[in-house]
Amino acid sequence: MSVTISVVVPLYNEEEVIAESYRRLKEVMDGTGEEYELIFVNDGSRDQTWHLACALAESDPRLRLIGFSRNFGHQTAITAGMDAACGQAVVVIDADLQDPPEVIPAMIAKWREGFQVVYGLRTKRKGESFFKKITAKLFYRLLNSLTDVDLPVDTGDFRLIDRAVCDALKALPERNRYVRGLVSWVGFKQTAVEYVRDERFAGVTKYPLRKMLRLAGDGLTSFSYKPLKLSIFIGSLVSVASFIYAIVIVCQRLFTDVLVSGWATLACLTLFFNGVILIMMGIIGQYIGRIYDETKGRPLYIVAERVNFEGDRDKNA
Ligand code: UDP
Ligand code: MG
Repeated sequence: MSVTISVVVPLYNEEEVIAESYRRLKEVMDGTGEEYELIFVNDGSRDQTWHLACALAESDPRLRLIGFSRNFGHQTAITAGMDAACGQAVVVIDADLQDPPEVIPAMIAKWREGFQVVYGLRTKRKGESFFKKITAKLFYRLLNSLTDVDLPVDTGDFRLIDRAVCDALKALPERNRYVRGLVSWVGFKQTAVEYVRDERFAGVTKYPLRKMLRLAGDGLTSFSYKPLKLSIFIGSLVSVASFIYAIVIVCQRLFTDVLVSGWATLACLTLFFNGVILIMMGIIGQYIGRIYDETKGRPLYIVAERVNFEGDRDKNA
């Protein structure tokens, strides 16, 4: 079967939304009249997600399932979906219906016009905490100012990419992936489709602060060396300042009888600069950790189960 559009959906503990998500995606995709496949990637859910997905897939051969052996993370789940997709274009969309499937036809239209990447631009985010909105806004702008790659702000992973882009992404073996950045990095003709980000259909966010920080760290370290240069900058500044101050102290000692006191000053300075040094070591450690991840060369993810993929059916036959 030749597939035109593959829709990749990562799922982690989404038992409350999976049925509705499937229903809406199917409705929209049926409406487009394109040949399509839905690829649901179960990212090691601990609830009934996989069970429900299997039940849905039984009656729909166009719904394909990939089940990870454990939770590997959102970005890895997207990657696995792209690896398995066979469509001429691949759409990545969250399972929680925050990204409305109804935007997909507009993306397909842009793709037909000749754009190879069509990303969703959030004009508004409904139902998300003030903290999430403000941190996201700041992060995208900080990242953009720190990198040479032109990363569009206020976009998530909701986007359509052409086969050529998908193949280019598949050739990037790096771990700790920041997929939306990689999509910008590979280039091609890109455009945006604006949409309003809805509230989550049900359930709670699967991105606690810890995972958000990790994603932010991955974005920063894989697209910018500037944090490493920070230590050179601060170090130089401190060296110059301390050299000048040293001269002042020597002059004081030689030409005046001001007694050099200042235990408190010393203590503060020592603590402050030890703090700075530790932070810098931590930053360097972040990069080294990532180098270590790369050198280990472990696979990005481990698939435990696959359902409705052609190769698997041949195997069973
Ligand atoms: N997700 C995943 N693995 C994870 C965390 C999240 O596959 O470890 C999926 C989740 O099921 C959803 C998408 O990634 O389809 C986005 O997650 P979520 O909606 O919780 O994030 P938010 O929209 O709050 O940023
Ligand atoms: Mg969400």
